[in-house]
Amino acid sequence: MDLYSGHINKLIDELAGLPGIGAKSAQRLAFHLINMPQDKVKRLAKTILDAKENVRYCSECYTLTDNEVCPVCANQKRDHTTIMVVENSRDLAAYEKTGKYEGVYHVLHGAISPMLGIGPGDIKLKELIKRLEGNVSEVIIATNSSLEGETTAMYIGKLIKPTGIKVTRIASGVPVGGDLEYIDEVTLLRALEGRTEL
Ligand code: ZN
Repeated sequence: MDLYSGHINKLIDELAGLPGIGAKSAQRLAFHLINMPQDKVKRLAKTILDAKENVRYCSECYTLTDNEVCPVCANQKRDHTTIMVVENSRDLAAYEKTGKYEGVYHVLHGAISPMLGIGPGDIKLKELIKRLEGNVSEVIIATNSSLEGETTAMYIGKLIKPTGIKVTRIASGVPVGGDLEYIDEVTLLRALEGRTEL
């Protein structure tokens, strides 16, 4: 027996498919949305569509941005010879919040995970190697300290080593399995300063 209308069930299903939203939260959100004024719901729907249609990859570092080149890559005051490799745009934002990192980034959009069937070809790795043809003095690997992050770090290290470019790994002061974005700025900076050569 359907307790709710078909439309509400559909909405709950869609919301429950989002990361971090369980069945209960999905229900709560669905009813909240239904009770919201029409114009607010329209604005929310439009905001989602606009973001989806207008956000793209930076042509240099592949972070998500509104422009051809993201603000970090467009900033000539940044050290464009130092590239920090992160798993996603949220990790980039976490390092940017510290305000202490002066280099640029490379966003992989994932990590290698044999268990989930994610291989080197599924993340922005080719794009990183291509960037190394330019003037690069150091690549800092700042993937998470999860199994996937470590696997990815090792893989990239092996790939870059023969090129003679300095390649470093951030210190493992970062809690195991902890997403970079949840780690406080002091810990992030300590991990960055304590990086070791691979
Ligand atoms: Zn960029």
